[in-house]
Amino acid sequence: MISAMIEGEKRPPQVKGEQTKCVGCGGTLRAVIPQFKAAHWRHDSGDCDPWSEPEGEWHLGWKGCFSPRYCEVFMRDPETKEIHRADVLCPRPEGAGVVLELQHSPISEEERSSREAFYSKENRMFWLLNMGRTSALSFNFASCLNFSEDNRVEVGGRDFYRMEWFMRGTMLDKWKQSRAHVFLNHGRFVFYLATRAACRSLVDGQAKGEFALARLTVREFLKAVAGDDPSALTIRSVEGGG
Ligand SMILES: [Zn+2]
Repeated sequence: MISAMIEGEKRPPQVKGEQTKCVGCGGTLRAVIPQFKAAHWRHDSGDCDPWSEPEGEWHLGWKGCFSPRYCEVFMRDPETKEIHRADVLCPRPEGAGVVLELQHSPISEEERSSREAFYSKENRMFWLLNMGRTSALSFNFASCLNFSEDNRVEVGGRDFYRMEWFMRGTMLDKWKQSRAHVFLNHGRFVFYLATRAACRSLVDGQAKGEFALARLTVREFLKAVAGDDPSALTIRSVEGGG
């Protein structure tokens, strides 16, 4: 974990030897201050969230866009008492907020579905998948991108572009079945994947390997997660154009 509550403040560790208690499980967290990587907290007896994955620069970069108070937010199911830690939870004054899960490595359909069920109970859930994870995946994905006008189709006031995954590993077929909103990150770009839940008319007619994407700027994506709360973001001028 990057940040934990210590002396009334949610923050990364500052010096070696610091320790505090995990808000989720009550276990001891110790400061880890590597020479070349970001400082973080480590559970003494293993991470209490089985859904957590090792975090690299990609995770840190995206989390760094949001205020620390909205990152790594523990959530408890009122009925089952199950506890998990959302990568980002941006609340909304009117009720349901947005949970953003940053996904860097492949996960089973079972885990995807469990996570969607948990996080969608009281909030809207967004996935952001790292499509630049390995050079192989990144190459496959990037080589399938095709925003030519012939492929354009409008659904719900948004322009989608139909494409085909003609390289190996048609991973998007599985993600099309997601009940959450699925975004793909490749370099400086964010794409919104047409899913059966959100764009049924478009996805129902698709063959294996076919998918459709809408383009967003990073700014538009961050605003979709953060809503109208300027203090949710650590970066400036999200309101502006461009
Ligand atoms: Zn814990």
